[in-house]
Amino acid sequence: MSEGETLYLILLVFYLLECGYFAPRGASAFHSAFGKRCRPATSLPIFEGRPGVLRFANPLPPLGRVYVISPPPLSLSPEGIVAFDPAWPGLPPRREQSGKVLPWEAIGEVATVDRAVLINGGEFLRADSREQAARAAAEIAFLKAVAPAKREAAIENNLRRRTDVKAARERLAASEKAGANLSFLSNLLLWLLFLVIPLTAHLYGVTVMWLPALATLLVLTAANLATLWRAHRRLYPNGRTGQRGLLLLRSLAPPALIRAPDSLTLPLMEDFHPVAAAAALLDRDAFEEFAATTLRDLAHPLPPATPKEGAGIVAWYGDRVGHHLGRLARAEGIDPARLLEAPTPRDGKALSCCPRCRAEYLLFDGRCSDCDLPLVPLRTHGGEA
Ligand SMILES: [Zn+2]
Repeated sequence: MSEGETLYLILLVFYLLECGYFAPRGASAFHSAFGKRCRPATSLPIFEGRPGVLRFANPLPPLGRVYVISPPPLSLSPEGIVAFDPAWPGLPPRREQSGKVLPWEAIGEVATVDRAVLINGGEFLRADSREQAARAAAEIAFLKAVAPAKREAAIENNLRRRTDVKAARERLAASEKAGANLSFLSNLLLWLLFLVIPLTAHLYGVTVMWLPALATLLVLTAANLATLWRAHRRLYPNGRTGQRGLLLLRSLAPPALIRAPDSLTLPLMEDFHPVAAAAALLDRDAFEEFAATTLRDLAHPLPPATPKEGAGIVAWYGDRVGHHLGRLARAEGIDPARLLEAPTPRDGKALSCCPRCRAEYLLFDGRCSDCDLPLVPLRTHGGEA
């Protein structure tokens, strides 16, 4: 293998690694390989570990899109907060949660150190990322500052905002508009780096083409970086300039710069509930399935559904999240009650199923071997449960 071929092999491996993105366990990830329509991202078990899941975006043009939404392990009520979220629509086991409880009157200073949210100087919860910790801390500090009589309305407002599908669609449209040029330039860079440069080197020789190739690469890199900076500032106006500078620094190498559109879309929908993001990103059938999985998990959470202390707070918050997700589903033309109904059997011999994961069993009663929840009778084809 010549030196040039070795260099290209290294570049290719570097680029394929850049196509990987990490999502915390429990986060919802959506991606599209080619068009705008996304699907929930799946993963291979070998890339799934305790801290999270490594997935790969489409490496070929037009590069596709990736989105990750990871709600913090936090329940809120007018009484107080609990570092516990019963929601876990994925496979068990659920992530570890501290279950710490604090009434609003006991909450003083709220700060973050790396992924930890500190309250009164002690660690209250450990988030999946710095950004998630910052969002959880900001929400706690905001609600703490609200007058106690208005706290319930403020929590409801936050939930309404997080489940606002119209706003999610607007956010998506804004990202498509702001990121269009970057997407075009990134695709151009991919063609230039992996097709045009090696092909011209093969046809005309390296000594003839290296200078024009280098000049084109530099111009395209500069245009890409400038476009990334502008698009990031438009989509994340509250982002710190230092963080944006770091993003640009990380994108200096061309293989990393090709994946720059991912840095715009990955955290794009973080302010929304995954079901609201799913309504904006998925087609109708995929959205219905995603909403059904989430609502079933909310109605039949993995045990323990509540921590030892603060059970009332977690139950209140779960009820309010369910209310807002039900409203969202109805607005999208889906009856949430229908999603929770016992299904008719896929296997003609099955007698019962798990109300959460829908695995079917040849038993009248028992517990789901995955979810440890009591089985429910399946409906007969006549419609009776
Ligand atoms: Zn189950």
